[in-house]
Amino acid sequence: MSLYIDVKYLQQIGNRLPLFKKKSDRLWNCRCPICGDSTKKKNKARGYFFTKGNDLFYKCHNCDAGQHFGTFLKNFDGQLYSQYSLERYSNGENRRAHSNPEADLIKKFQWTLPEETLTPPPSLLDKLLPRVSDLDADHECRRFCADRGIPEYQLSRLYFIDDMRRIVQISPKMRDKIVTAEPRLVIPFRDRSGKLVGLTCRALRGESLRYIAVRIDEDAAQIFGQEDINPLTTVYAVEGPLDSLFLPNAVAVGGTGFLRLGDLGVEQRRLTVVIDNQPRNREVVAVYKKVIDAGYRVFFWPSKYSGVKDINDLVKATGLSSRQLAELVDDHSVSGLKAQAQLAVWKRV
Ligand SMILES: [Zn+2]
Repeated sequence: MSLYIDVKYLQQIGNRLPLFKKKSDRLWNCRCPICGDSTKKKNKARGYFFTKGNDLFYKCHNCDAGQHFGTFLKNFDGQLYSQYSLERYSNGENRRAHSNPEADLIKKFQWTLPEETLTPPPSLLDKLLPRVSDLDADHECRRFCADRGIPEYQLSRLYFIDDMRRIVQISPKMRDKIVTAEPRLVIPFRDRSGKLVGLTCRALRGESLRYIAVRIDEDAAQIFGQEDINPLTTVYAVEGPLDSLFLPNAVAVGGTGFLRLGDLGVEQRRLTVVIDNQPRNREVVAVYKKVIDAGYRVFFWPSKYSGVKDINDLVKATGLSSRQLAELVDDHSVSGLKAQAQLAVWKRV
């Protein structure tokens, strides 16, 4: 009955695996959480779980990771693995079953890519709006992104709307709310499976209403970038979606609602929260306290950057690359008691 147990646990973690999908009773597919799959192609999903005899295996067609489901689960969620391990091996089955040389077994498995995955599912947004990466280099929206220093490779994640009133094509609820016809930068929010749940439309021409939020699924957590994160390495959480484009493996909560990160399915210790560099008032201190109490690592802005207000500003001031920025954040992030101690000092300065 060990296959039954493997499949049961796979289904349990399915909602935390990006683009997870059951293909048949013997095959499941997802974006690979080990290598993160393709950073450019959001629809790529090259991780497969497949049955072989009485066992379930994982194989990624991108990074060539190949492991028994037990090994996969151990790395993905250590706590759940302990439970799995008890259940799977309590009935006298040989514990060595999944520490056997898995690679050999996987090599023997004739690898074929299911045809379905070769065609990315059509996205509603792509039918209606161009991606910023497809606009001419001198296009207003493209220049807006370039002026902010947003990396070129991130532009395919953003869209452009030439007339804000057209948003009713995506969300009819907006019909009476949108009266102006300006163009805007469109930032899509998706759920873990890649389904569109909302949009934020950013002003390009200095309109006083800088952001217009369009909710498509009222109940879904509006966390930008969550469909793409690799939960097995550090995940950075920032306030603004555009700020998140400067860091690797990052999400944005669209404000200071960092406690929504609980929905991400990422272990707390792997989440580093970057709060905007605001004046140290009571509200900001309260946000830090909540984030620390929730068990996340938190970034304390080095004092030499006191004039910088957020990640985008920091990049403009320093020209740091995504990797360098991640290093800077890692070097100044702490959690638990250390974070509490640092907050106590920080709030008095
Ligand atoms: Zn992979």
